[in-house]
Amino acid sequence: MMRLISILILACAAFLFAEPKLSVAVTLAPYAKIVQEIAGENADVVTLVPPNANPHLFEPKPNTLRAFSKASLYLSDGSGLDKAWRPRFMGVNKNVRIVDISQGVSWMKGEAHEHAHHDAHEEEHHAHKHVHEHAHEHGEELDPHIWNSPRMAIVIASNVCSALVELDAVHAGVYRTNLEKFSKRLSDLDVKFTEATKALSEDRRTFIVFHPSYGYLARDYGLKQIAVEMHGKEPKPRDMQKLVHIAKEHQVKTVFVQPQFSRRAAESLSREIQAKIVSIDPLAFDFEQELQKFISAISEGSK
Ligand SMILES: [Zn+2]
Repeated sequence: MMRLISILILACAAFLFAEPKLSVAVTLAPYAKIVQEIAGENADVVTLVPPNANPHLFEPKPNTLRAFSKASLYLSDGSGLDKAWRPRFMGVNKNVRIVDISQGVSWMKGEAHEHAHHDAHEEEHHAHKHVHEHAHEHGEELDPHIWNSPRMAIVIASNVCSALVELDAVHAGVYRTNLEKFSKRLSDLDVKFTEATKALSEDRRTFIVFHPSYGYLARDYGLKQIAVEMHGKEPKPRDMQKLVHIAKEHQVKTVFVQPQFSRRAAESLSREIQAKIVSIDPLAFDFEQELQKFISAISEGSK
């Protein structure tokens, strides 16, 4: 009997001393991927915006709020994208440590947004207006799509590693080794992008995309991004005429469409300029794979 009791006590002790996993919250799926690459088995990741939602028009889901309430670390992307919904999350978790993972990122200004006052009848625009009003209160709006450039992703990954090391020094070695491996992969992607874009002639460097998710990629590799979307909305016929003109002038061969956004305008544009439609997910968990797809499409289209 004593023996059984001592076995039970030992079993309980083992259970009690098993390290609980860290719970780390991030805004978007690509950041979840970065955390997972670096933390490995040591963290569970809570993604606040589901992969198929438009982060610009986002409402927190109850199950995400519940998961966030247990998070010990919140890695904010520092873009201000989370301003509208951040108070709701903070309301359910007073103890969460907040770290900005964009230190060292060279920011770009976002595309100028008009207030959606005249479209208040649409529920969507209500949310949109809300996001942008918040952003406007704090001065100029930043382009939040930093993860879509390998060079910026390297900076972000290094910040994620520092945040994890600070919270959980016991596993510092694991985090640093994982960072090294991951950064190497991103550097390879950087080299690939640099070489692929260098090979493009000047007049083949323009691409069209519905939502402007690739501004950093364009800046860092000498490409030019043209968005179909106008201030978060479908373009008007007049805007479409302008787009057709620009696209023809730059001999655009590829139009990117994204699952979170409307395809209609992009499809009619691509028909008119006889460009190929390529589906790309700017918010995919596996953003490395999407970037590979992007660069293949750009290189193919320019042939
Ligand atoms: Zn966006």
